[in-house]
Amino acid sequence: MANVLAVLEQRGGALKSVSHEALTAARSIADGLGGEAHALVVGPAGTSGGGLGEYGADKVYLATDDALKLYQGDQYAQLAADRVNGGDYEAVILPATALGKDLGPRLAAKLGCPLVADAISVAYEGGIVVSRPVYAGKAIYTLKITAAPSVICIRPSAVTPAPATRDGTVEEIAASSQAGKAKPATTVEVKQPERAAVDVAEASVVVSGGRGLKEAENFKLIEELAEAMGAAVGASRAVVDAGWRPHAEQVGQTGKTVSPNLYFAIGISGAIQHLAGIRTAKVIVAINRDRDAPIFKVADYGIVGDLFEVTPKLTEEVKKMLEG
Ligand SMILES: Cc1cc2nc3c(=O)[nH]c(=O)nc-3n(C[C@H](O)[C@H](O)[C@H](O)COP(=O)(O)OP(=O)(O)OC[C@H]3O[C@@H](n4cnc5c(N)ncnc54)[C@H](O)[C@@H]3O)c2cc1C
Repeated sequence: MANVLAVLEQRGGALKSVSHEALTAARSIADGLGGEAHALVVGPAGTSGGGLGEYGADKVYLATDDALKLYQGDQYAQLAADRVNGGDYEAVILPATALGKDLGPRLAAKLGCPLVADAISVAYEGGIVVSRPVYAGKAIYTLKITAAPSVICIRPSAVTPAPATRDGTVEEIAASSQAGKAKPATTVEVKQPERAAVDVAEASVVVSGGRGLKEAENFKLIEELAEAMGAAVGASRAVVDAGWRPHAEQVGQTGKTVSPNLYFAIGISGAIQHLAGIRTAKVIVAINRDRDAPIFKVADYGIVGDLFEVTPKLTEEVKKMLEG
């Protein structure tokens, strides 16, 4: 019997939503293989592995120790590698978040197995079939994995978490061997952004602004629309380079890749490097005064107009709609 392991992600002991996405992907492959979906949760004392049966976990392995409160690459990778070596696993699924992008390659190196980074879909079709964007998102590459095990990092929001009731039996495993180990590198602190912002890479709605806003202060138009919609604020590189917005908000080839249900590009031309980050957005809305702007080639809905007139009206209408 071949199983699939989902390595989950927590912050301060609470599981992040990407964990349910990774588990849903693991469940669907396990169903194809006729095996089990297992989850591995590493975190500080008090981290719960309960409730994961609702997302298809047959078994949850929980490794807790306060020394593992912050992500420690080598220890997390060793705990995951030990679990994979202790079971019969066909694949390991991780979210392609900042943590997963660091952990996935470490784990694949420890296991001496292939890694698929930044997958946008994963399915079982007589074998594990994965697709991922290549050439800055200009093409989608589909591959069938023949090696076992393999490590697959899947983009946040690429999979919709689906309920699938299983036992979700929790088994505590020793984290102490890794927690006390000398480390080649240590995470000593994680600095939170000043504002408790929604992470642009994980948000289901993103409102992004570009150089068309003319100056940093005008970004309040973007913030107001984002707040009305409960969305994350994103930015083009032009405005990040200008110092108007933090790099954490940059969307694109050298920023974050996003897969929201709804993406607003406001005053953004749609350069290929920006488009590389939004290929898997489900619906794209563009506001630009230049009807020939490249963003309109990928937009599902386009508004040709002055963003300074259109954006406040849109915010007003969204507020009315949500209040009514
Ligand atoms: C190696 C490399 C990596 C890169 N990585 C990234 C990346 O990760 N992300 C990224 O975004 N870029 C990236 N870039 C930069 C990219 O090429 C563009 O320069 C950048 O995306 C342009 O940002 P922008 O669309 O905000 O600005 P502009 O291209 O200047 O576009 C501004 C737009 O606003 C519109 N506009 C102006 N005024 C108004 C108004 N009043 N109302 C409505 N519309 C208006 C204009 O018509 C225009 O289309 C990268 C470039 C390189 C070379």
